[in-house]
Amino acid sequence: SSLPPPRTRIFKIIVIGDSGVGKTCLTYRFCAGKFPEKTEATIGVDFRERLVEIDGENIKIQLWDTAGQERFRKSMVQHYYRNVHAVVFVYDITNAASFHSLPAWIEECKQHALGTEVPRILVGNKCDLQDSVQVNTDLAQQFADAHSMPLFETSAKNPNSQGDRNYGNSDHVEAIF
Ligand code: GDP
Ligand code: MG
Repeated sequence: SSLPPPRTRIFKIIVIGDSGVGKTCLTYRFCAGKFPEKTEATIGVDFRERLVEIDGENIKIQLWDTAGQERFRKSMVQHYYRNVHAVVFVYDITNAASFHSLPAWIEECKQHALGTEVPRILVGNKCDLQDSVQVNTDLAQQFADAHSMPLFETSAKNPNSQGDRNYGNSDHVEAIF
């Protein structure tokens, strides 16, 4: 008899934030290694996967992406928040409203038992658009500290456009995970 194949562990990570902040582009960048030519508004819930090897173990990273539209969320929400290993909150550095929405997203996660005991990170996307910054790094860092989350400023479009808070790695969109 032969041994069963080594198990691949699955890590489910949910990506949350206002519509338009770049959730789909970030997950696409991580899983496909490039910026999508065009994205359509996500309908319902979508996930993308990528296999990585960590300490000799095969890990499947499953990134769950949502639409944000209440209409779809109502029916999907229970499924979405089940068995989550980590949460990525995303805002758009060129859109202050997307930053001000974060407390509501954080609260929604808490209501589904995803508080500080679950690893959570904050991502400011679209750092390639430095001329249009509305959310400065200090403000974002204060918020991240207040919520005990690390902050990463990045760009799904151009990973060479580093924000002040980055991973010190040229491919930092990838490095955040
Ligand atoms: P979602 O609604 O959060 O999933 O956002 P999408 O991933 O669909 O992106 C919304 C829009 O922002 C699209 O037009 C993307 O091309 C654009 N976008 C996403 N990420 C970036 C980025 O890092 N830089 C720039 N300049 N545009 C981006
Ligand atoms: Mg989307």
